[in-house]
Amino acid sequence: MRTRVIAVDPLAPDPAVIRTAGRLIRRGRLVAFPTETVYGLGANARGERACARVFEAKGRPAEDPLIVHIASVEAMAEVGREIPDVAWLLATRFWPGPLTLVIKRSGRIPRGVSAGGDTVAVRLPAHPVARALIEAAGCPIAAPSANRFGHVSPTRADHVRADLDGRIDLILDGGPSPLGVESTVLDLTGPSPVVLRPGAVSIDQLREIVGCVTVATPSRQHAHSPGTATRHYAPRARLEAFDGPGARDVAMARVRALLTEGHRVGVLADDEFVADAPAAAIGTSLGQRNDSAAAARLLYGAMRHLDSLAVDVIVTVLPRDEGLGRAIRDRLNRAAEGRVIHVPALAAAGQERTPALG
Ligand code: AMP
Ligand code: MG
Repeated sequence: MRTRVIAVDPLAPDPAVIRTAGRLIRRGRLVAFPTETVYGLGANARGERACARVFEAKGRPAEDPLIVHIASVEAMAEVGREIPDVAWLLATRFWPGPLTLVIKRSGRIPRGVSAGGDTVAVRLPAHPVARALIEAAGCPIAAPSANRFGHVSPTRADHVRADLDGRIDLILDGGPSPLGVESTVLDLTGPSPVVLRPGAVSIDQLREIVGCVTVATPSRQHAHSPGTATRHYAPRARLEAFDGPGARDVAMARVRALLTEGHRVGVLADDEFVADAPAAAIGTSLGQRNDSAAAARLLYGAMRHLDSLAVDVIVTVLPRDEGLGRAIRDRLNRAAEGRVIHVPALAAAGQERTPALG
């Protein structure tokens, strides 16, 4: 199959292109498109066969459910059943936007979308290209992130192409995804709302509307939302993450030590840290220090870049747990697979120690 790539204006996409893309979706074909979070790989959510193609193209295990994207708040009624009031309340407040709601699945959505389960994830995206495409298709669009299974999510059309060229029909290139990390996933099917995956909509924002919201522990997260599995957001290289008040100094010492040991070292950090790192390390910028929006936007592209340069270790410093920082911490924590070193404030210079890491 030849994969076409068509550039579109992210704010005002050409209606003729969108009509073509919408027709492809309606007929059961696969179209990758930009959303405000990451690029999605879209298929007609009413079609069992079309959705099966998404799993094939991605090499995604069948037990990993897809998110259904809709064009209006009201369209949630087609996708779900016995929809609780709180879902309508949240939808009205946060849609269009980066919040995914897990509700009971309606019989009109094939089981395969939900990986056989009786719940379904639904979202109304804010990106003008995504919205125009869903409108034009005339059906809800099931779309996971448009990457091969196990790779990091794509935030640009060339990331999609690198992973899925020849496996899908069309890529709409609407430039970089403005947020850069996946949506917040909120499970509304239990006794109280549970965040399965942190994203751009914060827990505090959710609490303003629904009061009690809890955050799933990794084990519950994994059981209820398979896509949140650890390796899911990881680059190929081993990632070592440093956290806490003394993290920067210790991370820098670790970069030097790894270089001395002969490793090919990548650095994933803010401009200041990258500028201070030894020239032998391969630095990728996550923007200015404490700018979590920039870090989110740049994160996955930076990971892909370091993978393309075949570094064997990546050293990173976790951002503060505020704003988009929480979502970034979540992804980096998973990518580090437990290799997160907590560093308390260092009392004085000369006290930095490199923790023993394998
Ligand atoms: P992606 O868009 O690639 O991040 O994949 C969608 C993710 O949304 C899945 O991997 C799950 O983490 C989550 N998700 C989708 N459907 C459900 C569901 N029915 N219940 C819980 N989580 C879901
Ligand atoms: Mg994904």
